[in-house]
Amino acid sequence: MVVPYQRKVFEILEAQAKAENRRRFKYPRWVTRKSEPYDPVEVARITEGVVCKSVRTTMGSSIYLRKYTNFYVAKTYGRAANAYTVGCCLRCIFCSVEKSRDFPERYGVFYTPRDVVQRLLRLAEERDTDKLKISGGEPTIGKEHLLSVLDLLSGADCQFILETNGVLLGASADYIATLRRYENLHVRVSLKAGNAQGFEERTGALGEYYILPFMAIKNLMDAGVDFHVASMSDPEIMHGEERLDMLKELKNVGYKKDIEEEKFIPYDTTMVRLRAAGR
Ligand code: SF4
Repeated sequence: MVVPYQRKVFEILEAQAKAENRRRFKYPRWVTRKSEPYDPVEVARITEGVVCKSVRTTMGSSIYLRKYTNFYVAKTYGRAANAYTVGCCLRCIFCSVEKSRDFPERYGVFYTPRDVVQRLLRLAEERDTDKLKISGGEPTIGKEHLLSVLDLLSGADCQFILETNGVLLGASADYIATLRRYENLHVRVSLKAGNAQGFEERTGALGEYYILPFMAIKNLMDAGVDFHVASMSDPEIMHGEERLDMLKELKNVGYKKDIEEEKFIPYDTTMVRLRAAGR
């Protein structure tokens, strides 16, 4: 059930998006019944141009900055200091991320890798946890920034959890090969669909790209990176048959461990997006 103010907010956002799309690039904001499917790797590339930038130091090297909206302690994984990134390459209709997902150019502040690490370590010390996490948003957008954060944390007495939708990791085995060198890294790949139809319907991206997160899982296994699979397979979102397709794909790539099946939570932003998509 969408309350009137939520509908109003959405109407405003839609009008802003239309105006902006006319002025600038055609950038997908959220899924509607009339949405054209998009290439998520291309959206990642465009998003990176908005949420990442590099600056040259006086020594001639580059520092890679990325936009974040928040740093806080999350209750997941017991307790984890969390860095919340801006921008994603998917437009899931059940997404709970605030408007920073849809309008990355308007939200967030640029932080250097060192800023991010200092904030995470400070939070972790204050709240007595050894778990650090990066989520959002899609943290794999901005590879140089992410690798710089990981470099700064290597050797630190903590576990670093990277939450990802797996699109970019599936598109690049090289990206995953680079992650092997970080011993304190744990990757959480969150599947959004079990087949092409479900992927296109619920993320707005071209259906054939549904295979990328499964490829990420295969590549992570092959590379020996520590990881686990999560999935938005709540029956309210994913039908039983599609869930079986998902399990089949996981078997195909050789994944045998447990799956963290996520529960659908009807946050305000989620409900607005579901309604916009005609659900
Ligand atoms: S649920 Fe995750 S992958 Fe999907 S749009 Fe939101 S942030 Fe991106």
